[in-house]
Amino acid sequence: MGDNETDDRNFEPFNLNALKDMKRLYIGKTMIKDHVRKADNQIARIYDTELQQETKMTRANEPLTKLIAKCYMVKTEKNADLIQEIKAGIKKEVSTSCRPKHAWCSICGVDNTKDWCSHWHGREYDTKEGKKICYFTLDGVKEAYEVSFVAVPAQPRAGTTKNYGGKKQVKKESNNESLKLELESLDSFIFLEKERKDDD
Ligand SMILES: [Zn+2]
Repeated sequence: MGDNETDDRNFEPFNLNALKDMKRLYIGKTMIKDHVRKADNQIARIYDTELQQETKMTRANEPLTKLIAKCYMVKTEKNADLIQEIKAGIKKEVSTSCRPKHAWCSICGVDNTKDWCSHWHGREYDTKEGKKICYFTLDGVKEAYEVSFVAVPAQPRAGTTKNYGGKKQVKKESNNESLKLELESLDSFIFLEKERKDDD
């Protein structure tokens, strides 16, 4: 669903606190299409979440951590096309919708959930240490609403991933990382039967 690297497309990266809160808050939440909250758009439900920590550190100097959500959906005639799209990797990118506890400005340190500062996330500012792009760090999460399939996710790596049937996925460092992520996303977490067979 997301990680705590600071390269968020909306310049609103989560920190580790936020991921820990989301791990707890997202259990039982629905997965929808296109961030439109109507019953018809509910396609899956999250039954479990986990945090996968990597050895790499983020630019904010936290251990790089991924929030994984495990979802189930009912196989019906109506969603057969959607299942095919997920399997083929066409429906892949997801984004989260939640309310942060704090949103710290990287330029001045003001919490923009409580106060207002003059900086815009995504814009560049002159600082004592040179030019810096402003971003708001989402520190902790109060409420989580849903996770949604979207065309352009806020976080470049957020998407459906392969389920390894309980086995930890060990990702080796490689210079074709982006290609590997692309390939791993082709199978969805939803299709356990197939994945278990592949694991044997
Ligand atoms: Zn500011």
